Amino acid sequence: MTDRNFCEMISRGAPGPGDGGKTGSWRVLRPVINLEACIPVKTNKMACFNCWLYCPDCSVSKTIPPVIDFEYCKGCGICAEECPAGAITMVDEATPIEEEK
Ligand code: SF4
Ligand code: SF4
Repeated sequence: MTDRNFCEMISRGAPGPGDGGKTGSWRVLRPVINLEACIPVKTNKMACFNCWLYCPDCSVSKTIPPVIDFEYCKGCGICAEECPAGAITMVDEATPIEEEK
């Protein structure tokens, strides 16, 4: 059996938006980013981006501000769980968009 160095093992996967189809239609809750609390917006630095990193559908951009692609965001809430600033709130999908901050 060949020795394997597990420390050197990395993911070779390159998922992108749409790999699971247009999963935006699954959404019951919608993530809303409070830009006043978002770290890269507040600091104007390419910092944090946990939402981008952890989104399983690659639906968040690594930009200032981060932007969510609702065609693919399935509303799982992982970004809200992983945001260290508590800047993402999951709201009912039926909430009108104009009521968002
Ligand atoms: S995880 Fe939260 S603080 Fe970090 S970039 Fe995303 S919204 Fe902003
Ligand atoms: S709720 Fe957040 S983590 Fe889940 S798919 Fe939407 S943007 Fe990605």
